[in-house]
Amino acid sequence: WLGLEKKVIVVTGGASGIGKHIAETLSRAGAQAVVGDLNAETGTQDDQGIYYVQLDVTNKRSAEKAVRHVADHFGTIDGLVNNAGINLPRLLVDFRGEKPEYELDEKAFDLMVNVNQKGVFFMTQAVVREFLKTGKGVIVNISSEAGMEGSNGQSCYSATKGAVNGFTRSWAKELGGHHIRVVAVAPGINEKTGLTTDAYNEALAYTRNITVDQLGTDYSKSIPLGRPGKLDDIGNLVAYLFSDRAGYITGTTINITGGKSR
Ligand code: NAD
Repeated sequence: WLGLEKKVIVVTGGASGIGKHIAETLSRAGAQAVVGDLNAETGTQDDQGIYYVQLDVTNKRSAEKAVRHVADHFGTIDGLVNNAGINLPRLLVDFRGEKPEYELDEKAFDLMVNVNQKGVFFMTQAVVREFLKTGKGVIVNISSEAGMEGSNGQSCYSATKGAVNGFTRSWAKELGGHHIRVVAVAPGINEKTGLTTDAYNEALAYTRNITVDQLGTDYSKSIPLGRPGKLDDIGNLVAYLFSDRAGYITGTTINITGGKSR
């Protein structure tokens, strides 16, 4: 139904969490999923047929090398999921004065901007050069509810995801005439992934002046559909966006937050 058979789709940060699930969903739908990740060995393949390339999205040469490798190995690239991302909860000012390590500093700022924003730029530029050879392609950027709504204790992360939404709208305008679609997906609170570690929850709870347990209660009360998102919710949406059935969707950010954000 989706018509993704044999389409070569690269998923950055696909070695764990949401990206891993997206790669598996695409693979089940018949696509040739390719995972690019810091934690991947170029040229390996798993038992589902997912192909792996070593990639650091923050490094332009690494991004170009990985894209070149995939294009040479498979003969083409049809899609890209810019999924690799990090989130370090930090207050602008540690107004409680107890944990200065949870105040936003230049190191945390640069890390989030480099992975979440610059990485999306490097990967998209390299992949679009390939798309232009075949005259088509689809990019799905994994944004966040935080990028739409802002988020207490996550201002820098929110700003990088806001930038991703801006890239999405602008690149859709630039590339629409080349039959390239660019769409963003903004998940809200999801089942646990590698990003939402205990350390992450501890930092986020501190920035909001609540306990880690209260963080969980806070979450479920705030979602109209009454549950966190499942990885499948995101995987299915992303697979649909690569289909020609979504051929008129570009330049927008689709929230997938159980009704929490518009
Ligand atoms: P995760 O930590 O489980 O996975 C991130 C993956 O990215 C890891 O495999 C990691 O190795 C890889 N990665 C990190 N830096 C990289 C780099 N420089 N180059 C290549 N790969 C790199 O995270 P996740 O929860 O699956 O998040 C995936 C995406 O979804 C992120 O963009 C995140 O901002 C977004 N998101 C997550 C949630 C959530 O609740 N987990 C909510 C909204 C949005």
